[in-house]
Amino acid sequence: MKKIAVLTSGGDSPGMNAAIRAVVRKALYHNIEVYGVYQGYLGLINDDIRKLELGSVGDIIQRGGTFLYSARCPEFKEKEVRQKGIENLRKRGIEGLVVIGGDGSYRGAQRISEECKEIQTIGIPGTIDNDINGTDFTIGFDTALNTIIESVDKIRDTASSHARTFIIEVMGRDCGDLALWSGLAVGAETIILPETETDIKDIAEKIQHGIDRGKKHSIIIVAEGCMTGDMCASELTKYINVDARVSVLGHIQRGGSPTGADRVLASRLGGYAVELLLNGETAKGVGIKDNRLVATNFDDIFKTSERQINQRMLGLTEELSI
Ligand code: ADP
Repeated sequence: MKKIAVLTSGGDSPGMNAAIRAVVRKALYHNIEVYGVYQGYLGLINDDIRKLELGSVGDIIQRGGTFLYSARCPEFKEKEVRQKGIENLRKRGIEGLVVIGGDGSYRGAQRISEECKEIQTIGIPGTIDNDINGTDFTIGFDTALNTIIESVDKIRDTASSHARTFIIEVMGRDCGDLALWSGLAVGAETIILPETETDIKDIAEKIQHGIDRGKKHSIIIVAEGCMTGDMCASELTKYINVDARVSVLGHIQRGGSPTGADRVLASRLGGYAVELLLNGETAKGVGIKDNRLVATNFDDIFKTSERQINQRMLGLTEELSI
């Protein structure tokens, strides 16, 4: 292996830059040339591919987003389009491709390794949602979690001054990890997740019970994939007389400087991805399980339904919010 390329694809997440840096520096350390593909698969088919040096990744470990830019490129699902991208790698003699992104991005990488045996592909999980199989944590999750905690702490100050119920809508279409972890960390009364049944009447009774006991405020965390904050507020008023205020945290959850945990995770996974390429591995996603580096075949990442909500943690949040 003499030349590899790296790209970021799909939704961006804090720590992607740290992962790119690790891929580039580790490869250069092993005398491998590295190319950056700009704008994900879009740049791959448009041949927006540039050589990266040690200095190209200087001063980026602390920056959110991705300096390689990310893009959605639905046409990459078509074989003829992918062939153009593969050809752009081939003509430079690139034999390994590291794709930093989510599930969709992994599928693109899997197709490349199926359709061109000379190109090995490795995926690195980059998304704030923590929704990728084959890893306990994705790059960006911890930063987003901390952003939510910081925001809710501020909202809590005003919530307690006015004795109000606040509903905070957080990201997470299919995966409620951000809602669950942040809910536990901010001491939310209720957490509404896409993975579990939601009974608004039960929630309303719990909020009312708290008010009756003299609780100053209530915090409800709702994952966007389950319902919007506004929906939750209007449903609640069907059962109780509550002046619930809604905060939709939105894209601030995707931004910001990556936390220590995300920088370390990104660096470890980036380094490991290059190690796997050097060992001749392909069509695998890297991850961390029980704090150990692991690699899982893309096929297994796609087929398993291993990601489930941590019931024990969910139970604990219930017990702590009585
Ligand atoms: P994420 O990687 O965050 O899940 P997407 O699902 O939007 O984000 O996927 C990112 C990109 O990966 C898409 O824009 C497309 O270029 C590529 N991609 C997604 N699914 C496939 C697929 N089935 N085959 C080939 N490429 C895909």
